[in-house]
Parts: sequence; structure tokens; C-alpha cells
Amino acid sequence: MNTFDAVVQRELEDLRRADLLRARTEIASAQGARIQIGGREFLNFSSNDYLGLAGDPRLNAAAAAALQRWGVGAGASRLICGTQSPHAELERKLAAFKRKESALVFSSGYAANVGTIPALVGKGDLIICDKLNHASIIDAARLSGATLRVYPHGNLKRLRALLEGSGRFRRRLVITETVFSMDGDFAPLREIVELKDRFGAWLMVDEAHATGIFGAHRRGAAELFGVEDRIEVTMGTLSKALGAAGGFVCGSRVLIEALVNRARSFLYSTAPPAAVCAAAAAALAVVQSEPQRVQRLLENARRLRQGISNLELEIPEGCSPIVPVLLGESARALEVSRRLGEEGIFAPAIRPPTVPRGRARVRLSVSAVHTEEEIARLITVLPKAVATGQDMA
Ligand SMILES: *Cc1c(COP(=O)(O)O)cnc(C)c1O
Repeated sequence: MNTFDAVVQRELEDLRRADLLRARTEIASAQGARIQIGGREFLNFSSNDYLGLAGDPRLNAAAAAALQRWGVGAGASRLICGTQSPHAELERKLAAFKRKESALVFSSGYAANVGTIPALVGKGDLIICDKLNHASIIDAARLSGATLRVYPHGNLKRLRALLEGSGRFRRRLVITETVFSMDGDFAPLREIVELKDRFGAWLMVDEAHATGIFGAHRRGAAELFGVEDRIEVTMGTLSKALGAAGGFVCGSRVLIEALVNRARSFLYSTAPPAAVCAAAAAALAVVQSEPQRVQRLLENARRLRQGISNLELEIPEGCSPIVPVLLGESARALEVSRRLGEEGIFAPAIRPPTVPRGRARVRLSVSAVHTEEEIARLITVLPKAVATGQDMA
């Protein structure tokens, strides 16, 4: 082994010893309730494909048609080589869906956050984040050069105190996920909106896990809480409930023009393929025309949560399809995940730094296309897997 590899290898060994080493599992099928791994079928409780659209024939057909017409590659950044119509069309549809003036598509949700936040705040400004905000928000906050302050998860008193002490900053931007990706609970959005308004701060919400699911029209948690018109910056993903790939930001025309000019992940990155935009647009149509799909999802989430609550396992409160089983140490989460795998269930161990230390978990996520029997199977197998994990902890 050369010196370079030896140095890097030592770091990997450290990760392994701390039960924090990650590896890729090769999957031989599309995403769905059932997936193929190593020649075997698994029940899939791992993905964010909440509505089962990632392999939906209508999305596939929209992508295939766009692929034929527009080609695979987008050519360059849109400011260099122009915007292909599927991108513009998707942005018009996103803005209409979210009832905003304008929208901008990024090649990923990560890129949307990393581009947007530094475009709006910088040195001399203040960003206030929930402790559990996604890594892309934290990375963006650091990149922006603004001062970053963090309040304990959902703690309005601490948020208020941070806002009270924020007078010396030029701009103040509060950022929160609306449904938290690893805990599956809601941010207290109504109260956050009240607070940021009272102190004249701005609010950016990350609706990655709420877009396409919550609210009467499935626009997201901001619709559910009735505060859509009071939020300055709304971010969402096309990669989760919408089953495609990419991220977007929507809001006022001025906001989007600012991002077109200043969001570096938009300016300096090749546009996502037109085919992906066409698939996302098809997904939006499904979300708008098939409310029963979301009803099935929420019914499945209820079913899973109900089944788990009877097992006396620790899960955070909520109604979202994200159901984390809190296990403590990483080794235990890994063991429980492995045991579930032996029973034909694919559910990942989530470990630091994705979650705080001592809060490792198996994150179960249910979808609209899981059957009652598949969920029942998970609930049957779970106690045994957790009990085994306990022996070794
Ligand atoms: C997944 C996720 C992102 C990133 O979205 P991608 O499309 O996967 O890059 C951003 N924010 C939150 C809260 C997420 O869960």
C-alpha cells in the first residue's frame, strides 16, 4: 500500500472501530416496496420514495419521451447554453403547484440548499437553525460566512432568545425543515412564523419530506399549518415523494431572480437532464390528481406507528411516514439492521454524524405502495431483531 492509501486507510479503521463505517449495498431492481439484493428479495423500508413513484410507469414514460426529444445531457449551466423547455415547464408547474410567483430547479436538493442560503446571507448576517437541520443546510450556513446559531430541536423559547439577541446583525434568516428527515416529526411552524415576524427576521423552510404529502393539496407542511404566504423562501426536493431527482426553491419573482444571479450551485453546475425534469412534472400531475395515493401513505404510516407503539419501542411522536426506532449506540443499530436483513427486511442503521451521538437508530420509512401484509411482516419481525440487538449492547 502506498503512503496515501495507508494514511486514508487508518482513518477508515478509526471509523470501523467506532461502528461508523459506511458501505454501499448494491441493488438489482428499481426502488419499490420490494427490492432485489444479492439474488434475494427484500421488503424495502429504507427509501424516501413515499408515494411509490420512483419506478412508476407514467414517470418512466415521461422521462423516456423527453430523453428521445431532448437528449441525455443538458449541455452546460443554463446561463451558458440556455434553458431547455422541460426545465422551464417544470418551474412553471412547480410555481403553480406551490402557489408562488416563481421557482428555480437545481440538480439536487443538496445543491438547492447549498446554493440558496449563501446567495441570501453572508458575513455580518445571522442564520438561526434547528439542531436537527439537514447536513446540506449546515454546510450552506458555513459556506455563507454568516454567523450560525443553533437552537435545540423544536425549542421555541431558545429560538425566541436568539432572535431577541440578534439586533446587531444586518439580516436574520431562520431555517428549519418542516418534517425532519431522521425523526419524522413536524417543526412548530405556526409559532416559528409568529416569532420571525415579530422580530423582523426571514424564514426559509426545507420541505424535502413534506412536499407532495402534507396539506389539503399536498403542497407541504406550510399548507397544512396555513402559513404558506408568510414564508420568504421555500425549498423542496423532486427526489423524495415526487420520485425523480433534483431540488427546487420557490417564492417571489425577486427571490428567484436573485438565485439565478447568485446561487453558485445553479450558476456553475450543468443543469439536470431534461428527462428528469419531465419525470418530475409527471409526478406533480400524479400528486395533484391522485389524493388517494397520499391517503394510502398516511394510512400505512398510521398502521406502522400503531404496530410499533404496541411493541413498547421508543419512537418520536408524529404522523409522517418516517418512523425511527431509537436504539442508542451505533453497534446496536447496526446489529438490529443486520438482523432485519436476515429476515428479508431492508432498513438502514442511521448513525452519527447523521444523527446525534447516542441517538443511533433504525429508520423505517413506509410508502403508499406497501401492502398491509408487508407492514404486518415488519411489525412481526421487529421485536425479535431489537431483542437480539439488546443482548449484544
Ligand atoms: C434529502 C434532503 C435534502 C437533499 O435532497 P437531495 O435531492 O437528496 O439532494 C435536503 N434537505 C433535506 C431535509 C433532505 O432530507
